[in-house]
Amino acid sequence: MPERSNPPTPASAAKFIFVTGGVTSSLGKGIISASLAKLLQARGFRVTIQKFDPYINIDPGTLNPYEHGECYVTDDGAETDLDLGHYERFLNTPTSQANNVTTGRIYDTVIRREREGAFLGKTVQVVPHITDEIKRRMLLLGEGGEFDVVITEIGGCIGDIESLPFVEAVRQLRWELPPNDSLVIHLTLLPYLAAAGELKTKPTQHSVRDLREAGLQPDILVCRTEHSIPPEMRRKIALFCNVKINSVIESLDADTIYSVPLMMLKEQLDERVIKRLKLTGGALQPDLEAWKDFLGRLKNPTEEVTIALVGKYVELPDAYKSINESFVHAGALNECRVKVRSIQSDHLTPENVAESLRGVDAVLVAPGFGERGFEGKIAAVQYVRENGIPFFGICLGMQVAVVEYARNVLGLTNANSTEMDPLTPHPVIAMMESQKDITQKGGTMRLGAYACDLRRGSRAAKAYGKTHISERHRHRFEFNGEYLAQFEAAGMSASGTNPETGLVEIIELPQAVHPWFVAGQFHPELKSTVENPHPLFVRFVRAAMQHRKG
Ligand code: GLN
Repeated sequence: MPERSNPPTPASAAKFIFVTGGVTSSLGKGIISASLAKLLQARGFRVTIQKFDPYINIDPGTLNPYEHGECYVTDDGAETDLDLGHYERFLNTPTSQANNVTTGRIYDTVIRREREGAFLGKTVQVVPHITDEIKRRMLLLGEGGEFDVVITEIGGCIGDIESLPFVEAVRQLRWELPPNDSLVIHLTLLPYLAAAGELKTKPTQHSVRDLREAGLQPDILVCRTEHSIPPEMRRKIALFCNVKINSVIESLDADTIYSVPLMMLKEQLDERVIKRLKLTGGALQPDLEAWKDFLGRLKNPTEEVTIALVGKYVELPDAYKSINESFVHAGALNECRVKVRSIQSDHLTPENVAESLRGVDAVLVAPGFGERGFEGKIAAVQYVRENGIPFFGICLGMQVAVVEYARNVLGLTNANSTEMDPLTPHPVIAMMESQKDITQKGGTMRLGAYACDLRRGSRAAKAYGKTHISERHRHRFEFNGEYLAQFEAAGMSASGTNPETGLVEIIELPQAVHPWFVAGQFHPELKSTVENPHPLFVRFVRAAMQHRKG
């Protein structure tokens, strides 16, 4: 066979899988990517997943959860798309800034380089300058020999104006990379027309046509469907879309996202990928014992608890994605179904809180920003503290617990966080010194992993089973150390502190006065995975189970 005269690409031992989507958004590209990655990982391959998002924000850090769901934070302090949370929860390996790239970041890099004079004399254009930068970033994680396979999920839908440069970059890469080193998986929808009583393939055909118009031929089609795809329909899709019949993969609606890897195994998605990429050295069958064990526990709970999630974005399930998933992990470990009852903090008052929390076995007060709903959260914490209902506060949830204790136990009238009341006489939560001169909004919070020392014998230390931990942060305000002695004297202890700065990271009440009252300034939900449910969630669910039993 003659040598291909492709331009040289950076030396890379990794293989690249590109995942695009068509017909509609919300087909679950992130879950399919994570499931495929899980299957390959379970065969011994080293896999990572990255997400390319078409919007102009440099990162989702400045987006309201209503726009884009939860903002996920990595160890290295990147504010990222929530799909990275799925990647970590499925693969149990950390992601980083490099795993999430937006159009805004691409343009930012290119424009900065233009100002530095990197393109002197040249017109800077989408092709090749923007597409070159996209390609550079697409290949980045494949360098250095850390991964055998890099899966790249392209956000948005085929046909969207804003995803065109990404699709063009993939087209170029497919031509530049050696023939067996890349493949394209396209996710589509087979709508079911109840009146006709059948699945329809036309939107899939059109979406593949759009993809081909952009120069990309998919190798594998993953068809999202509510009903099983009949064999003759698979044949039709294969024929009209130019793929092999065994590369038409059925993706039925799943009872839980954690079933999807096993469904993809049954459809042999991993087999197809391995053959197509000529991947060698992997196990003949994926080792999914731990995964199946988790699923078994998840699907066969012996107990059930109801936990209230008090927050201000509760009507949007994606806003607290990682918290909800952490409950799934911790629940499964305890063989307990955790029913999450969402409670809008705006609506809570000291008068209606008892009624609103009737029947709940525990209360989690969610992270958040701004004044709205803050007083409702105070009412919730006072109620659970005084009535011995297990409590877990996360980030703003911890700050609420501190303000509530200051007001109602320390007797510091009008104590507050300066985020809510800059003129409060008792700023028990105040802006960090390092934050005071910051005017830029994007990427300037205290972000990413920080070390934390736990007090020996504390509930936190018992839960973690160690005294040195690292957790991820995303906040500007903190416990005001000037009040620490007063809190400790009144029974609320700082059981976790930052070893360098002394910042309070965890507060708790002792077992003698409350069955479970623990809150952290960090986000434990960002580190809970199927294989490693977070210890604070595990203990909190256990406390809820005990409360249920009375
Ligand atoms: N608004 C608070 C702060 O910035 C809490 C942030 C959060 O809950 N993530 O400190």
